[in-house]
Amino acid sequence: MNELLTQLVDLQAIDLEIDQIDNAIKAEQSGLDERISALAEREALINSLKEQVTNQQKETRTLEDEMADKMDHVRERQSKMMQVQTGREQTALLKEIEDAKRAAKENEDKIVSLMETIETLSNQMEEEKNLLKGEKELVAEETEKVRSNIEGINKGKKQKDNFRNGQAKQLKQSLLKKYDTLRQRRNGLAVVNVLDGVCQGCFMSIPPQKYNMLLKGDQLFDCPTCQRLMYHLAPVEEEA
Ligand SMILES: [Zn+2]
Repeated sequence: MNELLTQLVDLQAIDLEIDQIDNAIKAEQSGLDERISALAEREALINSLKEQVTNQQKETRTLEDEMADKMDHVRERQSKMMQVQTGREQTALLKEIEDAKRAAKENEDKIVSLMETIETLSNQMEEEKNLLKGEKELVAEETEKVRSNIEGINKGKKQKDNFRNGQAKQLKQSLLKKYDTLRQRRNGLAVVNVLDGVCQGCFMSIPPQKYNMLLKGDQLFDCPTCQRLMYHLAPVEEEA
């Protein structure tokens, strides 16, 4: 095989190993990130419940004050009943008293319903707080586990990185750039084998003439379909 191609294939082999390490680290981290964001969501839910309870409590106090005013009004009107002279005045006062009582009763009903809601919300909030506490403990354990897993995965990565950089330095800048760009755009594979005239990167056939030239192994070719650099390496069973 062309010397340059051998270098590229070797470089890609080490890059794929490094990719695997990076992906394994990402997978570890993303599982943990999901759990951490679930914690944040639960915290937000608890805060919203707390706010609802505070608002409803405020509303309850307003209604209680209103109800007290209405009852004061009822008492004041009732004491006035003694001084009333005519039947008509009496009827008017009685109606006023009845209306105030009814209004006070309406307030009371609203207060009862609000207090039920507050109780439901408070119970839910307590439940969520307990869940959050448990989850926080689990996430703390998980964080420690992930940290140690990543440490394990990372072992040997630095050595691979150094080796990779050494390999890369041996290549011409323009070729290395092309290789890096291809890897970015083509899912990590910049250099691919061609088997029976088929590119093993995109699985499209390459023109027979190009294939024949490729078989000689002394030139660099791009796949006409996916533009990856191509080489030919016969499968082991064919060589045997
Ligand atoms: Zn291709």
